[in-house]
Amino acid sequence: MTMLTVEAANPYKVHIGHGALNAFDESYRELFAGADKIAIIADAQVAALHLDHLKASLDFADKLAVKEIPAGEQSKSMETFMECQSFLLENDFSRKSLVLAFGGGATGDVVGFVASTFMRGISYIQIPTTILAHDSAVGGKTAINHALGKNMIGTFHQPAAVIYDTYFLETLPDKEIRSGMAEVIKHAFISNENWLLELLAVKNLPEMSKEQLAVNLERGIAVKAAIVEEDEFESGVRKFLNFGHTLAHAIEALSGYGKITHGEAVAIGMAYALELSGHKKLPEFLEWCLFNGYPLEIIENFSFEKLAGIMKKDKKSSGGLLNFVLLKETGRPFMATIDEKEAEKAYDALRSKIG
Ligand code: NAD
Ligand code: ZN
Repeated sequence: MTMLTVEAANPYKVHIGHGALNAFDESYRELFAGADKIAIIADAQVAALHLDHLKASLDFADKLAVKEIPAGEQSKSMETFMECQSFLLENDFSRKSLVLAFGGGATGDVVGFVASTFMRGISYIQIPTTILAHDSAVGGKTAINHALGKNMIGTFHQPAAVIYDTYFLETLPDKEIRSGMAEVIKHAFISNENWLLELLAVKNLPEMSKEQLAVNLERGIAVKAAIVEEDEFESGVRKFLNFGHTLAHAIEALSGYGKITHGEAVAIGMAYALELSGHKKLPEFLEWCLFNGYPLEIIENFSFEKLAGIMKKDKKSSGGLLNFVLLKETGRPFMATIDEKEAEKAYDALRSKIG
């Protein structure tokens, strides 16, 4: 098990590895004792698989209430948000209460949003259970979706801790391994060529050894944490974490949230950003996606015009312009405003390489 500290305005620790749940007993008894009430808000699917295991690590806490929310992306809704608020109010939670978010990135996002708004903000701990959540659990961005755009309603609210036990990853379906590894390779693209080459050499992601996976997750978290430390509220470098995301968010919105995984959409978005940037690793990346089963071919389903309409509303865009994180060289991302005609040409060029 390893640990790193995120030096945000309120610093917190990320405990990662097999057995990371032990950190509760070792380091957080005081935090729990100080809370008048504690809720585990859990993805229903994750709860069915792992709630007992989580509870066993919290046997010193006697005030646990459990609320299950719909599995995955469906929970990032106003409905789930309000249900959680009602649950906390009905159970007499107060400003001194603590919430534990147990599930993947979707759960972390909605539960973080609940915690950041309940009585103007209470403490919460992230207990991520997906590979993708190595990214989402760190950094304090919370959100729910709106029909007009993904993550459009949310806050910045850093967790009190992140307890990332890789034991939970053993039940992840291949599709979710693929989804999460897209954010891992994103962290490599924006930070380190040698790491990128190592990842591009993996032609069957589910066959990665546990050790190899853990090392990749630690590296990803380190990249994320360093960026968050430099720019907690996304006025500068934090934007680079959105490499691949402008197009990805539009694809997710057009296909219907939850139909394609976030990471699959991000993989397509990164391929597109590499095409726009003229990055030399695009052919290798496309090959990697192909071997690993990323559904690149779905770009055939979307007209560029519709995608562009959504991309102009992206939080990273303004004034009806298209803004992207580009990358001519690995590790050196930058922001660029792209003319719509040029953006469409690149989309067609990518299509012809995939088709
Ligand atoms: P998810 O939370 O939707 O989980 C994916 C699926 O895996 C769900 O069906 C869930 O029930 C299941 N699952 C979770 N853990 C499991 C386990 N251990 N075993 C078996 N099944 C399990 O998806 P995700 O990929 O973890 O997160 C995606 C979300 O994260 C998106 O909404 C995205 O916008 C968000 N995100 C947020 C940030 C951020 O900084 N806040 C960063 C990246 C992504
Ligand atoms: Zn993402």
